[in-house]
Amino acid sequence: MKVAAFTIAGERRVGIVDASRNTIAAFDLPAEQAASGVLALIEHGEPERIRTLEPVDLARVTLEAPVPRPRRNIFCIGKNYHEHAHEFAKSGFDSSAANGAVPGAPIVFSKVPETVIATGRVVGIDARVSAAIDYEAELAVIIGKAGRAIRPEDAFDHVWGYTIVNDVTARDLQGRYSQWLIGKSQDGFCPMGPWAVTKDEVDIASAGIRCFVNGDLRQNSNTGLLIFDIPTIIATISAGITLQPGDVIATGTPAGVGIGFSPPRYLKTGDVVRVEIDGIGALENRFEEIAA
Ligand code: MG
Repeated sequence: MKVAAFTIAGERRVGIVDASRNTIAAFDLPAEQAASGVLALIEHGEPERIRTLEPVDLARVTLEAPVPRPRRNIFCIGKNYHEHAHEFAKSGFDSSAANGAVPGAPIVFSKVPETVIATGRVVGIDARVSAAIDYEAELAVIIGKAGRAIRPEDAFDHVWGYTIVNDVTARDLQGRYSQWLIGKSQDGFCPMGPWAVTKDEVDIASAGIRCFVNGDLRQNSNTGLLIFDIPTIIATISAGITLQPGDVIATGTPAGVGIGFSPPRYLKTGDVVRVEIDGIGALENRFEEIAA
């Protein structure tokens, strides 16, 4: 099941996407519940029992992020593909490089919930704050069932599904501050979408992941190449932090980000970044300089 949060005629809805027909059928839920997107379905527990309304053309709706406002920070994993770990360690912005290019344990950081924006929305480039804004195509896991001390073999019982995020990063800020939060949490720095898919819908052990900037293929990898896989990530975070339904975990980006090039290819005004994951869809956002 592909689930999208959206707005139609000023009303917030959450519904099932039929990607082959380009339609969406809203669940018959009150707007205030639907406004929390996938969270409304996770909390309901039995979405298959909720009536759906007449499908409408996807072109008639405005997509929102599938978890439009996470209840707390988005967990993120750093340096979780080998080639990317090496390109980042060489970049000069890796404040964790002293520990080696490839981490011995997952690097876990976070982005504040207000960074989340939908596909199709503009990401601001604020030249007063950063001159080095970069893209990171990532698979994100959405937690469906709470748990603490989750064993790797039980991890997928706690997964509701998946979505795509662009872990937009201000490299200069990431390098200046040894904690990554500021460089990762600038306004609008977590495009998410275009929708979420339930875990049964996609073979996450081997899904192609790609990123294009203005149509130019920059990242081209496979989710099967994660250094720390999803069960390991979930076991690591949940060891002492109770994971909650609706938590979002971004699993890391493959090689090909802007700092991997010499000279670096940072995002500039007018650039369009498109992230695709097989079985999920495509997330696309334009970057535009914010007027001083
Ligand atoms: Mg990242």
